[in-house]
Amino acid sequence: MSETDTIFGKIIRREIPADIVYEDNLALAFRDVNPQAPVHILVIPKEPIAKLADAESQNHALMGHLLLTVKRVAEQEGLANGYRVVINNGEDGGQTVPHLHLHILGGRPLAWPPG
Ligand code: 5GP
Repeated sequence: MSETDTIFGKIIRREIPADIVYEDNLALAFRDVNPQAPVHILVIPKEPIAKLADAESQNHALMGHLLLTVKRVAEQEGLANGYRVVINNGEDGGQTVPHLHLHILGGRPLAWPPG
């Protein structure tokens, strides 16, 4: 499967539905289909970077943009009491979809450490 054939590529191209909460020319944010918290949103770059470890120095501005998009979406969702941002990277990181994504989890107190 080529990276652009991931489920997230299909969401970007509107080939499958998603509950999209934010979009701009570089990023897309949508609700996770299997939420682990009252608010569980994925922020992804439109550019098909498979995982954080594949990001290059040329992606410097995009990486910053993704974090600022997390902040923007968290504010939009009313997560004033806090939230968690997670990037699962690769097999041991528990990554299941090979398109970089930042999880925003909030709406309840979250335990630490994660499993
Ligand atoms: P990972 O384990 O790779 O860090 O996270 C992948 C996330 O994508 C999981 O939380 C999973 O529930 C979510 N996911 C997988 N397929 C879909 C889908 O088709 N639509 C949406 N909205 N989320 C998905």
